[in-house]
Parts: sequence; structure tokens; C-alpha cells
Amino acid sequence: MDISFSAKNIAHSATLAMNELIASIRESGEKVYHMGFGESPFPVHHLIRKALCDNSWRHSYLATQGILPLREQVSMFYKKMFNLDYPPEQIVIGPGSKPLMFAALTALDGSIFLPAPSWVSYQHMGHFLSREVHHIITRSKNSYRLEPDALVGAIQENAPDSKQQKVLVMNYPCNPTGHSYDGHQLVEIADIARENNVIVLSDEIYALTHFRDQEHHSIAEFYPEGTLITGGLSKDRSLGGYRLGTLLIPPDETPLLRAILAVGSEIWSCVSAPIQYAGIEAYRIDTGLVEYIRDCATVHEVVTRYVYQRIRTMDVTCPYPQGAFYLFPDWNDRRMALKKIGITTSKELANYLLENYHVASLPGSEFGMPPEDLCLRLATVDYDGELALDTYLEDMSSALEHPETFVSAVAPSVLGACDQLDLFAAHISSEE
Ligand code: PMP
Ligand code: GLU
Repeated sequence: MDISFSAKNIAHSATLAMNELIASIRESGEKVYHMGFGESPFPVHHLIRKALCDNSWRHSYLATQGILPLREQVSMFYKKMFNLDYPPEQIVIGPGSKPLMFAALTALDGSIFLPAPSWVSYQHMGHFLSREVHHIITRSKNSYRLEPDALVGAIQENAPDSKQQKVLVMNYPCNPTGHSYDGHQLVEIADIARENNVIVLSDEIYALTHFRDQEHHSIAEFYPEGTLITGGLSKDRSLGGYRLGTLLIPPDETPLLRAILAVGSEIWSCVSAPIQYAGIEAYRIDTGLVEYIRDCATVHEVVTRYVYQRIRTMDVTCPYPQGAFYLFPDWNDRRMALKKIGITTSKELANYLLENYHVASLPGSEFGMPPEDLCLRLATVDYDGELALDTYLEDMSSALEHPETFVSAVAPSVLGACDQLDLFAAHISSEE
């Protein structure tokens, strides 16, 4: 059969493809240190499990926008956790934030601007929609943060007419870098967006995985009229497979809301009924769930910062992680030695690590970086979440004060991956 023009150049999403590849390698009995997929490993909170069981009898289609009690709960959650005011009418529930983002990009006119690096799927969504996609260059030494001058430069170069709407996708804490923005940095971007007719699609799915020394701010605090926020249960509540996401849209945007709901109604109809009712429980703020979210985030912090410290001892540049469960080291300073073993692109680097050191990662090129930029994304979640959380809760100060002991007890594969990367670093040094 002939493949359509829009599907011809689309490949399986790099993150999911890597996860499926590693599952099949593991099934064959081979050892792999899996740093190639970002899935939070903690057990489902018992109240959410119970709510899902109690609601399993529900079998009817529901309104595309999502049930009102869930949207009311999400509204209260955003008020309590982020001090943001979004009434239920401005909230859409979807089967994960990914399809909601796609619906929002379908509904919003304008070319799409993405910082490079950014998460794998945005650029492909743009291509599916036959939209212009512009990557904005960022700098490793600034943790790949979107800088105001770079944003202005990209707008002037690609879409200078201020009457022409544009869409900027931002994600913080960031997949793949773990970096986030403070309020002041967001104000600067908000001002530029407002002046240049840029709508911000703010992917805040990792908002509540930020680490203890950083408070999450949303750009919507400074640019409420031009920001759409996506979020959901996949990361901070470890419920990626539940498929429940949220989209918050600005007030007085009825045509936009209508267009997004029209897309949803034609593609997914509604989120599964039992999941929506379990979702009410997952957005409660008075049952210990907020504490569960915070504890899971702290385990991510301990493990991710441990891997960061190990990477820094290898003399590799890496942004300091402030949230989520990713690191984005770059090996550009070791380019000459890497060339000697046949590595000149991030894809070759990732393949080499998998073949020779059994460490799975994703090349920076999947995140919009130039192919020859020698950066990789490492996910730090290859461990038993239940064991890690229980061990942390038993003795929090010991986990925080002795991360190496904690990681070696609860995340041996993560420790093993660091040891493998050490061997690789030593190999490169011997080539220098
Ligand atoms: N944004 C980012 C940055 C992600 O890493 C993910 C993870 N898949 C998503 C969005 C999508 O999450 P979901 O569709 O599960 O809500
Ligand atoms: N967000 C995860 C990652 O980047 C995987 C899930 C997905 O891509 O949909 O690894």
C-alpha cells in the first residue's frame, strides 16, 4: 500500500521506540542499563487505585471536555499548588497531554518556534500539521535555556510581521535538560511574546517534579492572556499509562476552546470514564497526595543529582538538573578522541554506548540538536520505584546525606550505568 505524504517521513517516536527496543533486548536475556526512556517508576497511590476500582463499572461515553467534577478538582489543584486561577470552563481533559498539545497546535494558527533541545514530539506534531517549525539555538553553558535575545532573533529572522501570530512551545522543568526558569527569566520571555504576537504553549508536565531548592513558576503568571498550559498525571504521579492530561486555556478564548474540543471530539471522543473518575482522586489536595508527589520528586532529585555528580567527574559538561529525571551531558570537548573511535554524531555516540557499554540513551539530534553536536539525553529512572520510595520514607535524612549508599541500595542499574559511563570516559581519555 502507498503511504500518504504526511505519514511518509514520520518515524516511531524516538522515546517509545527506544523503550520497546530495550524491552526486547531484555527479553532475550541481555543486560542493558536503560537510560533511554523517561517513565516515573513509583507505585500508584493507593487512593487512586481504589477510586479506579470503584469506578470500573462506568462504561458510557462522556463529554469531550471532561467531567465537571474532575475539571473542578483540577481548577482547585492549580489554585492551591501554583496560585493560578483557571475555572473549570477553561480546562480540557484529554488522553494524555500529548494529544491535547496536538489539538492545541492544530487549533492555533502560526509557525511553531521550539528551543533546541526540546522534547522529541513537538517538531513532529508541527510537521504532521504541515507547519513551519523553527528551532531556536541555545547554549550549553547557559543550560540550554531559551534566552531573550535568541527568541527575538528567531522571530525577526523567520516571522517579523507582528500581526502574524506565532506559537512558542516551552517546557520546564525541561525534558531533556532538567533545567527550569525562574520568575524573572519568564517575565523577560513573556514581554517579548506579548510584543511580538507569540502564543506560548507551556508544557508544565514536570512542574511538580522540581527539586527542593527551586519553586515552579508558570509563564502564565506573567502572560495569562497568551499562555496555554498542559499538564497531567504521567510524571509527578507516575501514571503515564493511565493516559490523563489537562489543558488550561486563557479566559475569553471561546473560538479556540471550541476548535480544540472539535479536534478532540473527532479523534478521541473522551477520556475513559473510570480514569476520569479516578482522576478526581488524583487531583485531591487533602488526602496525602501532595506529600506523595513531593516525596517522589525528592527521590528523583537524589538519584538524578547523584548521576549528575558522577558525570561531572568524567569531565563532561552537563546542565545542573533542577527538576524532572533527565540529564543532557555534552561530549563536545572530547570530539577529537571520539573521532578516533569513529564517533562524529550524537547518534553514533548513543549507538556506541549501547553496543559496547550496554547503556541505552537517546541522541541529542532527536531533540532538535544538530547531528554533529555530541550531546545525549539520559533518563535516571531505571529502578524499582516502590523499593526506592519505601527506603527513602524509612530514613529520609540518610538518603539525602548519603546519595551513593541510597542509589546503590535501591537503583543498582543506575549505579551500574554510571560505572559503564566511567569506563567509556576512561577509554576516551586513553585516546587523547
Ligand atoms: N511533554 C513532555 C516534555 C514529556 O516528556 C512527555 C512524556 N511523554 C509528555 C509531554 C507527554 O506526556 P503525556 O502524554 O503522558 O501526558
Ligand atoms: N516522556 C517520555 C520520554 O521522553 C516518554 C513518553 C513519551 O515520549 O510519550 O522518554
